[in-house]
Amino acid sequence: MSVYLDYQSSKPVDPIVIKAMQPYFHDKFGNPSSLHKIGDDATQVLEEHRQTITNFINAEKDEIIFTSGATESNNLGIIGFALRNKEKGNHIIISEIEHISIHNIAKYLGKFGFTVSKVPVDQYGRVSIHKIIDRITDKTILVSIGYANNEIGTIQPISEIGKLCREKNITFHTDAVAAEGLMPIDVKRDNIDLLTISSNDIYGPKGIGILYVRKGIRINPLMIGGGQEFGLRSGTENIPAIVGMAKAVDIMQNEMQQEVRRFKGYQDQLIKNILEKIPKSYLNGHPEERLPNNAHFRFDGIEGESLLLLMKDKGISVSTGSACSSKTLEPSHTLIALGLLHEEAHGSLQLTCGRFTGQEDIDAVVNALPGVVERLRKLSPLYVEEQ
Ligand code: PMP
Repeated sequence: MSVYLDYQSSKPVDPIVIKAMQPYFHDKFGNPSSLHKIGDDATQVLEEHRQTITNFINAEKDEIIFTSGATESNNLGIIGFALRNKEKGNHIIISEIEHISIHNIAKYLGKFGFTVSKVPVDQYGRVSIHKIIDRITDKTILVSIGYANNEIGTIQPISEIGKLCREKNITFHTDAVAAEGLMPIDVKRDNIDLLTISSNDIYGPKGIGILYVRKGIRINPLMIGGGQEFGLRSGTENIPAIVGMAKAVDIMQNEMQQEVRRFKGYQDQLIKNILEKIPKSYLNGHPEERLPNNAHFRFDGIEGESLLLLMKDKGISVSTGSACSSKTLEPSHTLIALGLLHEEAHGSLQLTCGRFTGQEDIDAVVNALPGVVERLRKLSPLYVEEQ
């Protein structure tokens, strides 16, 4: 038996996407920068598929830049913007629960004279607009708050933050990787200036993503070379991956509504059953404002890694948090920001479902987890003492 409930860390590429990509490895291999017919064909493919991806976020065609994925888009959006606009100010605002890439970018910018304020979140992981307002100074040039959190699934008040930033003439970047494909993203409606989207998070190939840059927002390139992507991201365009990402978008536009409905059903079952069947278990993240495919728990007296290993023995792949930092011994910075103690943060389990999840996967987890938690608690002197 193999059960996979860790869609947040990696998604299988949809077989329809793989099929759409195939001709572009050999038969249609042109470079859009070439001036001959094969090159012209590649340019046409590039622009057609750019249009598809543009429509997905309600942007314009010359507002998206292809990158190698979310980390690069975050780097290009934040560092590229900060370095280009330094004379306007050197202060940036992020939240305490941003993805590790955003935290490290913010730290890196410190070397270039930037200061960063980190907005705290409430016990559910929500950023309050007032806490952002409190931190704005006349030097603030950029606010970067993730659309939804990739660990606990809490969704942020993006429209409100976008409106605030537009009113204050501050550029607003959001990393929408966790939310894409689970809710409609509209850069115009939400007053978003810079947006990070990756392909794998909508069942496209890895190694491709976009940065949306609203017309009029100026950024510096980080990759210098032949001047592709409006001079903002040099390097020959990865046509097979771009075709794959566009196909993933196509499928997502048709499937999202039904998928979200199905995920909500699974989420309800996971939350209800696990909280009912396992004593001293709690839901992390917001009870309502959360991604429909995410269920995140903590269990008293349990160590998350042991839980994960026992589930692994049963053929069930789950997670204790973000795959990007899962090999460190540090507790998740997101869970600590919610106000959890270190031992509470270490006793957490993240379940995320996706396109290929079936009822049997949910049943397997609901059946296995209570016994595994009980077994670990019996082995834990700490838990016995608490009784
Ligand atoms: N942002 C968020 C919210 C993520 O969850 C991830 C990891 N999937 C990234 C950025 C980085 O993505 P990648 O490693 O694909 O560049």
